[in-house]
Amino acid sequence: MSQDTIIVGAGPVGLLLAILLGRTGKSVTVVEKWPEIYDRPRAVTMDAEVARILATLGIDCDTDPAFENHKELYYWKNADLEDLQIVDWKSLAPCGWHVTYWFNQPELEERLMNIAAALPTVSVLRGWTATELSQDESGVDLVIDDGDASRTLRAQFVVGADGANSFVRDALGLNVIDEGYFFDWLILDMVPPADYNASPAQWQLCDPKRPTTIVPGGPGRRRWEFMVLPSEDKDEIAKPESAWALLKPWGLTPDNARLERSAVYRFQARWTEHWHKERCVIAGDAAHLMPPFAGEGMCAGLRDAVALSWRLNAILDGTLGADILQSYESERIAHAKHYIQFSRDLGDIICIADAEKAAERDARMMADLVERNHEPITGDLVKLGAGIWCEDTASAGELSPQGLVKFEKREGRFDQTVGQGWMILALDHPTEDLLSPAHSRALEKLGGRLLSLGPSGCDVETLDDSYTKWMAETAAHYAIIRPDFYVAATASSPEHLAACFSTVVERLGILS
Ligand SMILES: Cc1cc2nc3c(=O)[nH]c(=O)nc-3n(C[C@H](O)[C@H](O)[C@H](O)COP(=O)(O)OP(=O)(O)OC[C@H]3O[C@@H](n4cnc5c(N)ncnc54)[C@H](O)[C@@H]3O)c2cc1C
Repeated sequence: MSQDTIIVGAGPVGLLLAILLGRTGKSVTVVEKWPEIYDRPRAVTMDAEVARILATLGIDCDTDPAFENHKELYYWKNADLEDLQIVDWKSLAPCGWHVTYWFNQPELEERLMNIAAALPTVSVLRGWTATELSQDESGVDLVIDDGDASRTLRAQFVVGADGANSFVRDALGLNVIDEGYFFDWLILDMVPPADYNASPAQWQLCDPKRPTTIVPGGPGRRRWEFMVLPSEDKDEIAKPESAWALLKPWGLTPDNARLERSAVYRFQARWTEHWHKERCVIAGDAAHLMPPFAGEGMCAGLRDAVALSWRLNAILDGTLGADILQSYESERIAHAKHYIQFSRDLGDIICIADAEKAAERDARMMADLVERNHEPITGDLVKLGAGIWCEDTASAGELSPQGLVKFEKREGRFDQTVGQGWMILALDHPTEDLLSPAHSRALEKLGGRLLSLGPSGCDVETLDDSYTKWMAETAAHYAIIRPDFYVAATASSPEHLAACFSTVVERLGILS
């Protein structure tokens, strides 16, 4: 029987996408080659946007025991332990969640797996490898193999969330641009003694003799990442005795700590030129690979899943045509490339193994720090590439802010209180007669809502100044928000709003 969607790969990206499609009633089969959850050390940190995404699944990173947040600054220090850089990782991001959370990737995958498994619309086939793919006008055939037998599955769409060595990407003949960038690092996941003093909690040691990352690894765990020096053999350094020798100066020995996982990874920078071909799409590491210095690889992949889910759901519902996948590619590719470059830039600073170059870097960064009076830096909001948003309006193409609100007697963050989807928000302005009949119909087709937001008496009562501040910064009274929480437009008047919404509707190509 034909499915709505087959997803190849039950990593975090494939599982999130399966949940976001499955919970709207779409039939989804996830095909995963490993019988169990992949247990090697990988992601430990996620940003505020991912916490916002997980909250839509009922995972609250502020209270769920699988996550932690240290409410501390993030330091980069030189070999003499002087500050080179200070980053604000203790504040709330404008989207309402903390800037950074820590977790253990297999535990996150287990959380996602349990949510997916509870959906009657989603089935996960573990121990099956996708080996052949062909598509025609109405669907895609995927051959899968478990080592003993092979089967052919058919679906309207196939998504390759099958990681860096993606079979789907290669079967589609999609071209990968390899930026020729690589560094080898030894990654150690540790369970230190309960009274281990980790202060600062999160920092980089920019010592040219051994660039090192020292960070939390999720509750009860710590992560050490040691750069493999150009003179070293990566197989040799991966041996447990080498790992323990590197950990000794940090007070960890086999007697007081457990080496949970160790692996040498080659950090690379790659991206795929096109992310879809007819009825097949790729997402996550299959589409982009970045060194983990910014902790953004998985985050970028989870954004892909959200961006793809609202489009695939609308295509499968018959609201939008398959052409909408073009904007998935154009929006997400530019966003992911920003993070690839950003991660490379961080790596260029961190991975200096030459003493003279390190001394130049230290002098430059310390001077910068003095000039700004040791003020911590904050992250920027990154814009999507061109797509379903109005380039000429402030804040558009960026993640929307989120404040605390009261709606229908419930109080809390906007997303959990009001919900998610297409929304037109009128800040402290009436909504009567705001939309033309045609625009009201378009919003209805999208399953969207028109809401006033402001003091008591509005549809949604604001409980903090997040929205008033945002509207003041953007000089706007109206905002169009998309199902992935990105801003499609902000507008200063009803006429301006109407023009923006016309652009959005036209770009979406809503089917009649
Ligand atoms: C050392 C390290 C540290 C990192 N730290 C961070 C961090 O702190 N924060 C962050 O955001 N990111 C981080 N990342 C990146 C993050 O781990 C990845 O971006 C993320 O795992 C990608 O998820 P994915 O679902 O796209 O792919 P994967 O997790 O690779 O999952 C793909 C799945 O597809 C399956 N598969 C592959 N081929 C087939 C096939 N033919 N048939 C069936 N199944 C198949 C695989 O078995 C796998 O389970 C780090 C990565 C590394 C290596």
